[in-house]
Amino acid sequence: MDPKHNRKPFVGGNLKMNGSRAMLKEIIDRLNPLKFDDYVEVAIAPPSIFLDLAHRSVRKGVNVAAQNAFNCTKGAYTGEVSPEQLKDLGIDWVILGHSERREIFKESDELVASKVGHALKSNMKVIACIGEKLEERESEKTEEVVIRQLQAIAVKVDDWKNVVIAYEPVWAIGTGKVATPQQAQDVHLIIRDWLAKNISEKIAQDTRIIYGGSVKGTNSQELAKQLDVDGFLVGGASLTEDFIKIIECFIPSEN
Ligand code: PEP
Repeated sequence: MDPKHNRKPFVGGNLKMNGSRAMLKEIIDRLNPLKFDDYVEVAIAPPSIFLDLAHRSVRKGVNVAAQNAFNCTKGAYTGEVSPEQLKDLGIDWVILGHSERREIFKESDELVASKVGHALKSNMKVIACIGEKLEERESEKTEEVVIRQLQAIAVKVDDWKNVVIAYEPVWAIGTGKVATPQQAQDVHLIIRDWLAKNISEKIAQDTRIIYGGSVKGTNSQELAKQLDVDGFLVGGASLTEDFIKIIECFIPSEN
């Protein structure tokens, strides 16, 4: 039996702070006609000001994700958006713990975990990002860092079916330096083994672990072949036609 049989691949496009309404329309016009629904789950994450427009423009079957959400329902948190407000717009997914949030906005493991917990309690689905920096990899701390980040998040998760884990080595994000398929597989396996030992074997087998870091149409195929790589979180390439190629690597060629 295909060991990935129970995990539907997931591809997310993180537009970051890029684009305009016109660019978003181009991206959605490329996505809407694509028949991927039987093979891969797809989400696009535009800047928050475009979430409503994206939600109204995508066809059924294309998900829209926020790039962030706060850990409270409402109140005096200038500039923040709550999961409840996102749900009110019809947005079901949110990316949390992205390395740019951790680095630039100083989000700690604890804050990321608390945001994950609040988003899940608000019935959102979460793409939870973890990953090591270059110096951490070079000092052989990859496993320690990734498991520390995962452990913090896991404490807040009751229902793993609403969580996708994104392994995103920081040194590969936006750098053009992609992890080799073996490097990605090795860390994905560490994550899955941790889930098996600390949560349950079933959750380990069912939870999607996606890779992010300079994924392109030219490298996605090889990465996708890895046993524990269940899809991608795509930054730069999600703004271009390459995003379609990345999705297509999960669609059987006769389609
Ligand atoms: C990301 O922002 O999650 C990402 C993986 O970016 P890029 O694909 O540009 O490396």
